[in-house]
Amino acid sequence: MDSSFDVIIIGAGAVGSAAAYQAAKVGHKVLLLEQFEIDHQRGSSYGASRIIRYAYSHPDYVALAKAAFPAWRALGEESGEALMVATGGVDFSSRGAASFEQVATSLSAEGIGYEIWNADEARRHFPQFQLDEDMQMLYQADAGVLRASRCVQAQARLARQHGAVLLDNTAVTGISLQRDSAAVETSQGRFSAAKLIMAAGAWMPKLLAMVNLSLPLTPVKCQENYFETGDPAAYEPGWFPSFIAHLPEAYGFMPYGLPSLDGSGLKVGLHGGLPFDPETPERQPDAGVVETIGAFLNRYLPGGSGRNVFSRVCLYTMTPDEHFVLDLHPQHRQVAIASCCSGHGFKFSPILGKILCDLAFTGTTDHNISLFSAARFSPPQ
Ligand SMILES: Cc1cc2nc3c(=O)[nH]c(=O)nc-3n(C[C@H](O)[C@H](O)[C@H](O)COP(=O)(O)OP(=O)(O)OC[C@H]3O[C@@H](n4cnc5c(N)ncnc54)[C@H](O)[C@@H]3O)c2cc1C
Repeated sequence: MDSSFDVIIIGAGAVGSAAAYQAAKVGHKVLLLEQFEIDHQRGSSYGASRIIRYAYSHPDYVALAKAAFPAWRALGEESGEALMVATGGVDFSSRGAASFEQVATSLSAEGIGYEIWNADEARRHFPQFQLDEDMQMLYQADAGVLRASRCVQAQARLARQHGAVLLDNTAVTGISLQRDSAAVETSQGRFSAAKLIMAAGAWMPKLLAMVNLSLPLTPVKCQENYFETGDPAAYEPGWFPSFIAHLPEAYGFMPYGLPSLDGSGLKVGLHGGLPFDPETPERQPDAGVVETIGAFLNRYLPGGSGRNVFSRVCLYTMTPDEHFVLDLHPQHRQVAIASCCSGHGFKFSPILGKILCDLAFTGTTDHNISLFSAARFSPPQ
């Protein structure tokens, strides 16, 4: 096999597979390297579903979502798969919660329509929810869910169809940067390219150390949890929305949930977790998390508080402000870096892949990514 490429991409999760697809589609000679198998369970992207929504507390993400929705539709068409399912989405909180108000403000700023309901109105629209009388619900009709693993597989497959070389079970063990190029050492040999894109999820701190960069990225252990419901049909797309409960004080982190997709059961998680080394082989779900979610379901979704059928550990990689890192290496402009997690990156992945390619090959992007600059973590000079 040829060992020289236009671009090498490290990591075939949602972001790296998207970057490979985007780069291969426009004719670049691409090598995508993945340390495990494609769509493995040890990173951040595996699973039945992820939320896609405009509703965000910062308007820059709403703007990014405007590009992500059509990108997923195009990907669905090219792959011939139903990757995105419409569900509508709700946010709820006690009246006056700042993060809830910010969602409404961001949507208004970007001209995206929504409704705000009181507890009675919420019950009328979605009888599954039993909100306290002082609570409010924001409904945004365009939200949906993505079939996560199928999305990753589709982007990897399409990348290959457009000519990319994918090497799975191939870990990058060293990186050397020359003036205008990069070379990587792997378990399958040495490869070089004019450009390097690093999208290694929870392993980014280890990879960044290879290019003399240190950013405050903290992998944390989260888990997705699936529950039986009294009336399964009432928790399927069309009848039940994705939701975010702005109640971090009561449950440690914000509870969120997604409808039962393809018979998965109602999915509910907590948006956050404790620091975790991604090399740790032990991946036992935490019974305490299931208990906390059970208490949340009993109170706000009593029909959903059935048996926990399944839980699985999944990793977030957090930045201190929970915004992504999406930038060029400050010293080596042939290297683009991505940490697009903090628990909310999947929905944007086709656009993140496009931005990474544009950054790597042209040094710029049409999207506003000032919020995601790596320099925000550098002490002022
Ligand atoms: C439980 C859970 C629920 C979530 N819910 C949502 C949601 O509803 N909506 C949403 O938008 N986002 C959600 N997210 C976040 C989203 O899934 C992540 O932002 C996204 O998957 C990150 O993708 P990634 O490609 O950056 O990371 P990963 O998927 O982890 O991919 C990185 C890849 O790099 C590989 N790699 C690392 N080191 C090396 C090396 N040395 N050599 C080769 N390969 C290497 C890894 O093996 C891995 O496959 C959720 C995440 C979790 C865990």
